[in-house]
Amino acid sequence: METVPVLPSYAAAGMPWSFSKAGVAAQCALQYDFKYGAARKTYTEDKSTFTESRIGSAVHKALELALNGVSIAKAFQVAIESAELAHDEAETTLSFVDNVTAFVKRTAAFRAKYGIKPLDVFLEYRIGMSTDFKSIPFFDNSGLFRGVLDLVMLTPYGDAVVIDHKSGKQKEMSEYEAQCRAYCILILARHPQITGVKTGVSFLLTGDLQWNPRVSAETIRAEYHPWLLKFLTESSAGLQLPPTQNKTRLCGWCGYKALCPEFQLPK
Ligand code: SF4
Repeated sequence: METVPVLPSYAAAGMPWSFSKAGVAAQCALQYDFKYGAARKTYTEDKSTFTESRIGSAVHKALELALNGVSIAKAFQVAIESAELAHDEAETTLSFVDNVTAFVKRTAAFRAKYGIKPLDVFLEYRIGMSTDFKSIPFFDNSGLFRGVLDLVMLTPYGDAVVIDHKSGKQKEMSEYEAQCRAYCILILARHPQITGVKTGVSFLLTGDLQWNPRVSAETIRAEYHPWLLKFLTESSAGLQLPPTQNKTRLCGWCGYKALCPEFQLPK
């Protein structure tokens, strides 16, 4: 039986998608080509100037270790050493200690209050999903979408709680709506028995934790599934033409500037 394509061919060519990959496609087709296109192995992304990104990764690592029961001091030491941070980067990373400590305590209190068992807590949870919204191995390249969820807790009352950590500047929750929707879809694919999902964003710079309203499994299936297909189709619309650059303020975070015609010095 012939299968019905869920995405137009230009969008299907980018599978498996992730939230960040779709973001690159929507932002700049040339950057997408350097990073994910056929010749990607030819190009090397220059991350040497991405101090914020290195600090963010180290803070994420320290938090993951601390949530796993490692002491805060040891968690930061391991995270800083494994990231090989420069002295000032390590200092900035250590400025997150108080908020990471508070988040770990808050999570422990939440787990105690709702009786969440250790086996129902998942850190850096890798989930792959097929075109029919079923769970598949994360590295299965035939999938539609995949993602790594920072913290997931399955509650005894049948819901999933999904928290994403942000180490950068705090923005309005509307900025994270698409990512939170995508995470609802992924966790339902992996745990189809859950009755609903509550997503939250933990801002490690300010210590603030913001929640979205709970979404039922029915709503995720009926509304979020078609939304994801539309989101991926729209995000990849620029890939229908030969890759061209799109200069925006986001070029500051592009690791391919040295290759980009927008940033070539005049000869
Ligand atoms: S520097 Fe800007 S315009 Fe050039 S490839 Fe990167 S994102 Fe695109």
